[in-house]
Amino acid sequence: MKPAFNTPDWVLAALQQRRQHDLMRRTVTLASPQVPHAVIDGQDYTSFCSNDYLGLANHPELVRAMQASAQQYGVGGGASHLVCGHLAPHQQLEEALADWLGYERVLLFSTGYMANLGVISALAGKGGVVQDKLNHASLIDGALLAQAPLRRYLHADVVSAEKLLSKSANSGLLVTDGVFSMDGDLAPLSALSRLAAEHQWMFMVDDAHGLGCLGENGRGSLSLEGLDSASLPILVGTFGKAFGTAGAFVATSHDYADYLTQFARPYIYTTAMSPAIAGASLASLQVIQSAEGQERREQLASHVSYFRQRMQSLPITLMASDTAIQPIIIGDSKAAIQVSDALRSLGIWCTAIRPPTVPAGSARLRITLSAAHSEADLVLLCDSLEQVLTTED
Ligand code: PMP
Repeated sequence: MKPAFNTPDWVLAALQQRRQHDLMRRTVTLASPQVPHAVIDGQDYTSFCSNDYLGLANHPELVRAMQASAQQYGVGGGASHLVCGHLAPHQQLEEALADWLGYERVLLFSTGYMANLGVISALAGKGGVVQDKLNHASLIDGALLAQAPLRRYLHADVVSAEKLLSKSANSGLLVTDGVFSMDGDLAPLSALSRLAAEHQWMFMVDDAHGLGCLGENGRGSLSLEGLDSASLPILVGTFGKAFGTAGAFVATSHDYADYLTQFARPYIYTTAMSPAIAGASLASLQVIQSAEGQERREQLASHVSYFRQRMQSLPITLMASDTAIQPIIIGDSKAAIQVSDALRSLGIWCTAIRPPTVPAGSARLRITLSAAHSEADLVLLCDSLEQVLTTED
């Protein structure tokens, strides 16, 4: 077939390359919410790859708050925060988050990707950025946008991080995920915080996958490690995961917040998040802080321990993760797709994650558990995995 719009050869070659190596990505359309059940191509599946860890995306309180906020303030932000897009629900959400986490200030961003681009590109400084090898793509891209030196240390390895900081003539920004998005394990935050302080580097944590789920009152990885705004001055959180909405924030000091307001381009030059989403995110924070939030975290933790206990008898290596992210490493991309397809035939939806999202040779099923799953859903998942992963081929 003649390529449309005279597509350049290098574009077609890149696509062909992806197809040949079983690395082609595609979008699927859900005709339903995503968790615990999803309707895809007319079939009903139990889904295990959403980041809606607490099952709040369809919570009636959030839906009601979103409707009320849209009714009162409109659907769209209409302008950037600094022009006239910062409405009452944004302000209330910022203040409530600052209170919850114990920081002086919070700034909202439209997505977590943009929060990381904005904070890192503005703060990279002369020493540049030193970060964990398995940090999320947006943290790497933030350093690229800064056009500052970018160095990466071995995963969760404080000695390796220390070597990079010691070698650097100027101080910069030390950055880590709190919970690693593809492995589910935790960063050694206290040790990294001490290291940053010793070398007078700024320290930033992206706790996209910890906030809401872990720690006292759902305050995430910082609470698990007993850190506070002094030992962790720049904390990024996202709303698209445990909060069940969309968008992100940075919790920080007055000085950093003022600085980011002047220099973080992905904060300045974009439309503010929808006020309806801000209203829904505030309602979500209230659920997260309530007894119901605690029950949801306990339900999730109980699913995690059931899953890990059932997986022990299978010929797989579990990752060192006690979080909602429970990957099963398959290795080869084709094999990972085959496992995902086999699960699908048993009514389970879990997309295979392949390079370059994860390192070469570590294609996996990134199984994510949610408080929205029932015990029966977990039994179905574990029975199906048992069947698929122990079948001789
Ligand atoms: N940080 C981490 C660790 C993530 O996993 C993600 C998204 N998966 C992001 C940031 C980006 O957040 P958002 O989806 O809100 O852009």
